Amino acid sequence: MGEDRMVNVELKEIANLCKRRGFIFQDSEIYGGIGSVWDYGPLGVELKKNVKESWWKSMVYDRDDVEGLDAAILMNPETWKASGHVGSFADMLSDCKECKKRFRVDHVKGDKCPECGGALLSPKSFNLMFKTQLGSVEGEAQEVYLRPETAQGIFVNFANILTTSRRKPPFGVAQIGKSFRNEITTGNFTFRSREFEQMELEFFVKPGEDEKWYDYWVNERLNWYVSLGIRKENLRLREHEKDELAHYAKRCHDIEYLFPMGWSELEGVANRKDFDLKQHSQISGQDLNYFDTATGERYTPYVIEPSGGVDRAVLALLLDSYRKETVKDRERVFLSLNKKLAPIKAAVLPLLKNNPGIVEMAHKIREDIKGNYRVVYDDTAAIGRLYRRQDEIGTPFCVTVDVESLTDGKVTVRDRDTMAQERIEATRLKEYLSTKIV
Ligand code: ATP
Repeated sequence: MGEDRMVNVELKEIANLCKRRGFIFQDSEIYGGIGSVWDYGPLGVELKKNVKESWWKSMVYDRDDVEGLDAAILMNPETWKASGHVGSFADMLSDCKECKKRFRVDHVKGDKCPECGGALLSPKSFNLMFKTQLGSVEGEAQEVYLRPETAQGIFVNFANILTTSRRKPPFGVAQIGKSFRNEITTGNFTFRSREFEQMELEFFVKPGEDEKWYDYWVNERLNWYVSLGIRKENLRLREHEKDELAHYAKRCHDIEYLFPMGWSELEGVANRKDFDLKQHSQISGQDLNYFDTATGERYTPYVIEPSGGVDRAVLALLLDSYRKETVKDRERVFLSLNKKLAPIKAAVLPLLKNNPGIVEMAHKIREDIKGNYRVVYDDTAAIGRLYRRQDEIGTPFCVTVDVESLTDGKVTVRDRDTMAQERIEATRLKEYLSTKIV
């Protein structure tokens, strides 16, 4: 369809749709919320689950060189000393002398406050990890952290996975889970949350083969976003400058999306070298090398790490699929979400909710086609309104049952994107949908 269907949508508009339709709510909203923490509602949980499943499929099921893991959020605090997080996982912050607002030094140009123009005080370091206590005995409780990344759970399990899976490099370990960061500069809806989910792969390779695998993963990961239906022109790769690289990284590319606030990171792909395994070996005293029995070689594998955020992927998908068009002088808003990712795949709608035959048939159809994905029945409004509701949440198919259906056994299937309607035997519906939603 025409260019007029593409809109540059503001974050505000998406946040509004998310709240109104049940994708994303402010956490503990009835108490006034809590800064930059979000809850995924009935539709958000489905979309997020579908994104994670798609990642898991492409990282684990579609290949034969990656194992999965689900490590705990709490870890022995030595982990964070080894990883460098206790010492250096900090943002440099500057307070404004005049308005007292606090800024990340890497987000301001010069030494003036971006808000009021006042002088900024000399920067102080602020650690981003949340602390809590383990154990209940006063004085004996141990100070622990909520993990700020899932990666370390993989590194500390390296030897366990190696021996139980009988892998040899190149191989990877994939994990999806919650991470926590006490972020300073928040805002931009879910883009920078204090509790969020990461999808991380640590791919272990022989030193010397790291550059090859690095290029491979940068490419692979960019293609994954394209395969989800995000427009290519809204994605780009940006390589980190030498002075921007994290202390452990040899190289890093950000996969960026053109968010309303500008190009921002969706995912980082880093060559972490042998930094983490060496650090953990040294501090734990455990041998985390790989011994190749065939060649007699012993080495610490290098690690290529594609690290993406579930919440940022969800946000980019919502923004990228948002469409507005005028149909018969009325505005139509719809999400052209990839059918695989859509929270609800089909809505069964009775044309007349007071006709018991139609209602019964509609319920029966829902029962028939349910199973592999979410299918809903809805009779809470007139048909035009029901279509609009499903369009706005990205439901690819609406199935309408009318009076004629009772005699000819056929229903109308309406396509979300084209609004084209097709008459189909109700008994063929299940198969019809399964061929369209792949
Ligand atoms: P940024 O520069 O935006 O703070 P980062 O470089 O610190 O991000 P990484 O440590 O590379 O981020 O984390 C990997 C991925 O985890 C990011 O690409 C992002 O998708 C996600 N992520 C990191 N921090 C947050 C956050 N506060 N909220 C949501 N997602 C996040």
